[in-house]
Amino acid sequence: MKDHVVGRFAPTPSGRMHLGNVFAALIAWLSVRSRDGELVLRMEDLDTQRTSADFASVLRSDLRWLGLNWDRETPPQSQRSDVYDRYFEILREKDLLYPCYCTRSQLHSVNAPHLSDGTYVYAGTCRNLTEEQRSAFSRKPAWRVKVPDRLWKITDLVQGEYQLNLATDCGDMVVRRADGVYVYQLAVTVDDGEAGVTEVVRGMDLLSSAPRQMYLQELLGFSHPTYAHVPMLLAPDGRRLSKRDKDLDLGVLRERMRPEALIGNLAFAAGLTDRFEPISAAELAATFRWEKLKGDAIFLDASKLY
Ligand SMILES: [Zn+2]
Repeated sequence: MKDHVVGRFAPTPSGRMHLGNVFAALIAWLSVRSRDGELVLRMEDLDTQRTSADFASVLRSDLRWLGLNWDRETPPQSQRSDVYDRYFEILREKDLLYPCYCTRSQLHSVNAPHLSDGTYVYAGTCRNLTEEQRSAFSRKPAWRVKVPDRLWKITDLVQGEYQLNLATDCGDMVVRRADGVYVYQLAVTVDDGEAGVTEVVRGMDLLSSAPRQMYLQELLGFSHPTYAHVPMLLAPDGRRLSKRDKDLDLGVLRERMRPEALIGNLAFAAGLTDRFEPISAAELAATFRWEKLKGDAIFLDASKLY
């Protein structure tokens, strides 16, 4: 089926869902359900120090409480390093990988963080080391993929046109860290590609990841999904609502309110409804359209959630 949409939830099980996560999950769900599509759940637990199976269970319970169901769950990233190994080999066979021996302090002394997620532009220091120079290092290297000097353009469903040149905005990207752990960009590209994801809906803070993932999709033989990066939730004073606002995680909110009230507040703030009223996710799906969603910041007075 040509128009069959496959969306995904890809939470990190490192704590309770925050209001911002709830919002992104709600929009991902609405987009898929309003078009009779399929939704995939995946736990992004590459960081095994911060994540746990217990948090993953709580996340599933929170999604069910919100009325956001899914059709299948794919294996968590922590169990897929052998799969990522295979794709790593594809990059190696294309002669696009090289070992990078730079220490963190070396990397950070050259440049200030460039992209919104704190990425430092890598100057290519280790790109042309000789075998002899490489063998002189005793520590294990990270592995980087060479990036081309080329503009990547996306038309985001919410943010509109966005472009990035990986060579100047990011530099050659780490795909596997020195400790052997694969990085987020590679894991996400492989997981979304293998699951047949056609639409990626997530927070605005990940917008600059899209061109990086598009590049890896091209190298690894996956098609590009549609992207939709939803706005951040802001307090009335313009401060970003974050994980630090402990009173806004679902542990607290589930005690305080019904899911229909929470969804009604988010829907109204985002422009999906004309006035505040409690509403279920299923009812909201009947009238969901991307054009209704505000593209800029969404203000939410958390003290007035009711
Ligand atoms: Zn290096």
